[in-house]
Amino acid sequence: MDGTTLAERVDRVRQGVAEAMRSAGRRPDEVTLIAVTKFHPARLVDDLYRLGLRDIGENRHQEAQAKADELRDLADLRWHFVGQLQSKKARQVRRYADAVHSLDRASVVDALDSAGREETGRLDCFVQLNLTDDPARGGVAAADLDPLVERVLGASSLRLLGVMAVAPLGEDPRRAFARVREASERVRALAPHASAISAGMSQDFREAVLEGATHLRIGAAITGKRPDGG
Ligand SMILES: *Cc1c(COP(=O)(O)O)cnc(C)c1O
Repeated sequence: MDGTTLAERVDRVRQGVAEAMRSAGRRPDEVTLIAVTKFHPARLVDDLYRLGLRDIGENRHQEAQAKADELRDLADLRWHFVGQLQSKKARQVRRYADAVHSLDRASVVDALDSAGREETGRLDCFVQLNLTDDPARGGVAAADLDPLVERVLGASSLRLLGVMAVAPLGEDPRRAFARVREASERVRALAPHASAISAGMSQDFREAVLEGATHLRIGAAITGKRPDGG
């Protein structure tokens, strides 16, 4: 990207996150850094593992599945599914995902739940909030958040961690993330334990940290430019 190595970029992002946390008056260990590796090969995930990263984000099922399979020996890697999820893929996603950040409708909640009925552990989940007026962007509209949260709370094989969102283009990210924080307060009124906030990407993680993000999903700033420009 700019002549830096992967190790340098990881370092830079870690320092940037630690700095943002300090200036928000928060402890650096109160945030989880998820490296989003979509469009990059499993080899890059392996390199990130060697640099100490354990949380990996993917947004396309087939690609995620292939990488998780290739890297199955790295047993303590945690795979976060952050992309739009189709109900018919739920069963397969459950096989490798440690967390799903993109629950946005009842059918997906039900499919993921029934896919896990026989499992002992619960699957960590976030309800994704749509911060735009465009339903195609993914996420539930703020007005429909509460019933979806109730649905997840009623799903015995899912564990609700909190809310997830992507800041819309063209809006000040701080303001967008302030709305996520408000949504998070509503979620906590229904489920006090569900206090996590998955928000903040390469360009806006500082603003997300100021609004209480607990899970940052950072791609390009760590991986460099995506190979196919995607
Ligand atoms: C790609 C992606 C990210 C990371 O975005 P960058 O701008 O590369 O940091 C985060 N969240 C989701 C849902 C993504 O699809």
